[in-house]
This record gives sequence, structure tokens and C-alpha cells, in this order.
Amino acid sequence: MTQRSFADLGVAGPLQRALLAENYAHPTPIQDQAIPQLLAGKDLLGVAQTGTGKTAAFALPILQHLFADRPGDTKNTGGKGGRGGRNRWRPTLRALVLAPTRELALQIGESFRTYGRYLTLRHTVILGGVSQHPQVRALSIGVDILVATPGRLLDLKEQGHARLGQVSHLVLDEADLMLDMGFLRDVRKIIAALPAKRQTMLFSATMPSDIARLAREVLSDPVRVEVSPRTITVEQVEQRVFFIDTANKRALLAHLLQDAGMSRVIVFMRTKRGASRLAEQLEKAGFSTEAIHGNKSQNARQSALARFRNGRARILVATDVAARGIDISGVSHVVNYELPNIPESYVHRVGRTARAGAEGIALSFCDSSERAFLRGIERITKLPITVVENHPHKSTAAFKGQIPPRPSSPGRSAPKRRNATGHSRPNKGRSESYGNAPKRQTSPGAPASNGSNPKHQGLSGERTAPSGASRGAPGQRRRRRNRSRPSAS
Ligand code: AMP
Repeated sequence: MTQRSFADLGVAGPLQRALLAENYAHPTPIQDQAIPQLLAGKDLLGVAQTGTGKTAAFALPILQHLFADRPGDTKNTGGKGGRGGRNRWRPTLRALVLAPTRELALQIGESFRTYGRYLTLRHTVILGGVSQHPQVRALSIGVDILVATPGRLLDLKEQGHARLGQVSHLVLDEADLMLDMGFLRDVRKIIAALPAKRQTMLFSATMPSDIARLAREVLSDPVRVEVSPRTITVEQVEQRVFFIDTANKRALLAHLLQDAGMSRVIVFMRTKRGASRLAEQLEKAGFSTEAIHGNKSQNARQSALARFRNGRARILVATDVAARGIDISGVSHVVNYELPNIPESYVHRVGRTARAGAEGIALSFCDSSERAFLRGIERITKLPITVVENHPHKSTAAFKGQIPPRPSSPGRSAPKRRNATGHSRPNKGRSESYGNAPKRQTSPGAPASNGSNPKHQGLSGERTAPSGASRGAPGQRRRRRNRSRPSAS
């Protein structure tokens, strides 16, 4: 079957031009399935996670609808002026996107800017942890599209700054994460303030019963679209595990980082404190490092991400919640310094490397307390992880005699000659410290063939935050500056 183009899906010319500029050759599967249905006005239940192209799947139809239905130039103006006239045209808030994290909200805002660059629609992003004043100003100037985290939006709505009575399009993105973060009550309150007649799209990586119930409540005769990149994503990633004592993890990381091939590395930690401490230690050891986690101010997180994106920082230390939804290209390695206790988080983590079809490498440090986590991970990915046996900090006591030797993993090609960080090496016929391909032993937790799909119960490390948590400390609030001026999409 030949692949459909965006034009085949009914995407309008100015949007096609924007996609061309982004080098999007073809729609991704979720876009292919969702866009025609959404353009036809259907509600949608999307079971998909970040990395599938779901943002464009909902943003393109919204932009297209809103642009087609934009009020005439003389509406809103009392008959005078038009868009550029003396009585300035003021857009009406018609599309609302709710996202659980600030990073995700900003990223969605960026997508609206990118895809809508040839349209004259306005959008803004409002989120907690920064001053509300610029956001209030943005709303009073008027926007067509609002991307928001639930807590702050509810605040602004209750203060009378956000008027939701004309919203015709609603997106609930990463609904399961909203549930994990304790936002569902806020979300329900916001939805209660919206017109009943609207088009609603709900996206969730997993479908716990609370989200299924929410979907039944808010969607009307929805089309269900499901794409699961999970195994595909993981299969593209070279996965290795180092059995190690906790106390040696830092030394092992420093040792591995001597390899210049580890050029852009995300190191995952379970806790915010752990992430802070490790980032400081790495920086002290001479590695350019940034950290993102929930204790950092919004501005600090954005500038850390920017430094990592533009290559000024080689290492980004992150917690699961802070990193969720972040899209950074060219990540050479993901290091699971601590394994996540939720197997789904492992999949999210390693999905940060090997993006857009590229191959990536994930290195996991597993101490004796984390072996059960490893087993859970292998169960859901259905792939055994290669054990790196030959490294200087190999755990002796904790694992002695506990790892049953296994044959090479079935269905995987013969190992290339690689070093410990997973890079191919020219085969010079002489073994260097890691010059030999690691013995392909699979890790102790053999994957069960009928891997269950444990539901997403929460994210490791960061505690679930009440809605107010994203609003930041008052002192921080004052220091932070506007990042929510409305911008022409
Ligand atoms: P998302 O799942 O929406 O976060 O998108 C993940 C990444 O895929 C983003 O970097 C998008 O820019 C990119 N992307 C989305 N749609 C396409 C497409 N049709 N072709 C190529 N890249 C895409």
C-alpha cells in the first residue's frame, strides 16, 4: 500500500507548507489515522505516547478548523478597523489544550507555532511556576489557542482572566500522567466550564480505569486510534546493563564518559535530590552537566534544556517526570544510573535516544536492589538486555553466582564489535580493555513471552504533585519572567 501524503489526508495548503519546511515527508501512523477523522469533526481517543507524532495529529486539524472558521475581519470590532485597524481585532479563545507538565505544554506551544506559521492565529502557553501577570495580559489581548497546565488555568479562570465559554476544541494530552500527578479534579472542573458542544480529543499512553472513565464522560462517540511505538522504540536501542554496587556507580559513569562517543548523554535518576547531587558531582569532575527536575524553577529548567540542546552541556541529569515528553534530537546515550521502579518509565527513558528512526544506546546500572526492576523491564519490552561483563567496577559480592549464564539472546543479530558504551570499534584483532565484543549474556530477568502490560501507576522518583505544586514558591514566582506572551502561530 502506498503511503498517504498530508494532502491526501485533507490537510490545507498553508499547513502542508509548514510541514514541508519541517521535512515531514509523510504522516506518522497516528497522524494518518487521526487527522481525517478530526478534520471531519469526530471526537478522538488516542492511545499513544510522545514520540508518535501525536501533537501534529491534533494540532493540524485544530489549526485548520480555527483558520477556516475565524471570525470575519469586521467581527469583534464593532464594524470598524479589522485586524490591523484602530479598534484592534481580538481573537476568541476557541481551542484549549491541557497538558500535565510545563515542559510538555511549552513543547506543544512550539508545535502550534511551527505548524501554524503561515496562518494568522494566535496562541499562548500558561503554566505554573512563573508570574501570572504576563499570562493575564496575554489572555486579555486575546488568543485563539491556549495550551495550559490545569492548576494555573483553573487559578486564572477563577480569577476571571480565562474565559472558556467559546471553546470549541479541547485536547487532554497525556491524560494518564495528569492522573498520576493528581490533576484530574482540576481537569474535571475546567471541563465543566466548557460548552457541551465541542470537539474533544483525549490522548493517553496507557488506559487505567480512571482515564477510561474520564474518556467515557468527556468524549462523544469517539474514534479510537491506538499506536504503540513501545517495542519498536526499544528494539532500535542497543540496550546494555552493568551489574554494579551502588557505591561504584559514579566511578563507572566517569569511566564510561572518557569515551568521546558519549557525546550527548541523558542520565536518569529516580529522585530530584539524587539528580541534583549527581549533576553537581559530575560538574565538579569536569563534565559539562545540566540537571532538570521538579525542584528547579521553570526558567532554570528551560535554560538547562537549552544548554543541553545546543551542545554546551554534554550531560543532562533528569528525573522521569521532568523529562517526560521532552524531545531532543541527537542523544547518543541514555544512562539509567538508577533503574526505574515502573517498567514503563524505562521505555520512556530509552525512547529519548534512537529518536526519529536513529539508533541509540541505553546503558543501565543495576545494583542488587534493582534486579527486580530489571526483570519487570524485560517482561514488558520482551527483550533481554545485554550484560556488559567486562568493566572495572563489576559487582562481585552482590551478584556472585546469581547470574545464570544464558545463551545469546534469540532473534538478535550477532554482536558487532563494540566497546562498553556500545560503540562499534574497528576490529584490529587485538583486545583492548573493552575491545572485545561483550559476552552476550542476557540479564537475570528473563522476559516472559506473554509480557503483561502493567498499567501506568505513577512515575518513579518524583512524588505526585497536587495541582498547586506547579505554581512554585512565591519567592521564585517573583523572580521568574514572562514566557507566555501570545505569539502569532
Ligand atoms: P510528538 O509525539 O508529537 O511529540 O512528536 C515526536 C517528534 O516527531 C517531534 O520531534 C516531531 O517534530 C516529529 N514528527 C511529528 N510528525 C512527524 C512526521 N510526520 N514526520 C517526521 N517527524 C515528525
